Amino acid sequence: MCDILYLVVPCYNEAEVLPDTASALSTRLNAMVADGTVSAESRILFVDDGSEDRTWEIVDSLSRENGFILGVKLSRNQGHQNALYAGMMYAMDKCDFIISIDADLQDDVEVLPQFVEKYNEGCHVVYGVRNGRKKDTAFKRLTAQGFYKFMNSMGAETVYNHADYRLMSRVALEALSQYKEVNLFLRGIVPLIGLKTDTVFYERKERAAGETKYPLKKMINFALDGITSFTVKPLRLISSFGLICSMLSSCGLIYALFSHFLGNTVPGWTAITCSIWLLGGIQLLGIGVLGEYIGKIFSEVKQRPRYFIEKSTCREEEQ
Ligand code: UDP
Ligand code: MG
Repeated sequence: MCDILYLVVPCYNEAEVLPDTASALSTRLNAMVADGTVSAESRILFVDDGSEDRTWEIVDSLSRENGFILGVKLSRNQGHQNALYAGMMYAMDKCDFIISIDADLQDDVEVLPQFVEKYNEGCHVVYGVRNGRKKDTAFKRLTAQGFYKFMNSMGAETVYNHADYRLMSRVALEALSQYKEVNLFLRGIVPLIGLKTDTVFYERKERAAGETKYPLKKMINFALDGITSFTVKPLRLISSFGLICSMLSSCGLIYALFSHFLGNTVPGWTAITCSIWLLGGIQLLGIGVLGEYIGKIFSEVKQRPRYFIEKSTCREEEQ
């Protein structure tokens, strides 16, 4: 008996690419079922992240034509990470392991059997790591690489060049479900789980159709979310900076007092203005960073649900 695989595919306004994705994934899955790599009960689970286009209609009709395809629809757009998490939690008690993959066919489906091979060798988490970013635009490449470097320099450990193309066993999913934080940053949480892991390398392709759902603004928010969810390093940096400033200013104070008693004081407009601006700026920055963390606490203590599943395609199976 081989194990049941669920391919979890988050989709936000992916109507253009979805039919191609469904056919590429089901061809691959079919082959894997045929050669006994995975069980015939394996499925492709599309998670519609509150799309405004025809994504759900397409998922619904694909699920009627193709027995491999299932879908769940979230009540509104909750973001890639939440959609992925919703799919993983939905699949958790129905399968033995999942592989999460983007809907735009950028992740190479040909390496899926390699993931399963590593799973069969006893790995609980297998990261898909791209070989390079030749196919990305120069801007995307630069910003994305900056993102990983910045994240790691800030202390949030992530796997370099790994996005969310990832295998997770049921055990790993159960461990993940214990992380109660609302601000999800899966690339940071999954490495914290531990368990036996491995990597599979693949060539990242161009988007098959449609546009990226991660413009620069979303990417910056994502990076900030990752940093503030995983490390208090920015707070420490502020403290160190504050300490250095205080030491320097006490030297300045001694110098100013000496000058005063020696009667050498000059109007000093420039020095005063500069220090006001400099310290004002540093203080505002410090308050801003503190605010980020307080904002995080604010959203965590409310414990709002991460998503709500409005409907699913597998009505009969569920009953
Ligand atoms: N996505 C999602 N919800 C969102 C944004 C994106 O479910 O709010 C999905 C999207 O449909 C795709 C995946 O997340 O399957 C990755 O997004 P995209 O390909 O646009 O990002 P990029 O590859 O450009 O970084
Ligand atoms: Mg993409």
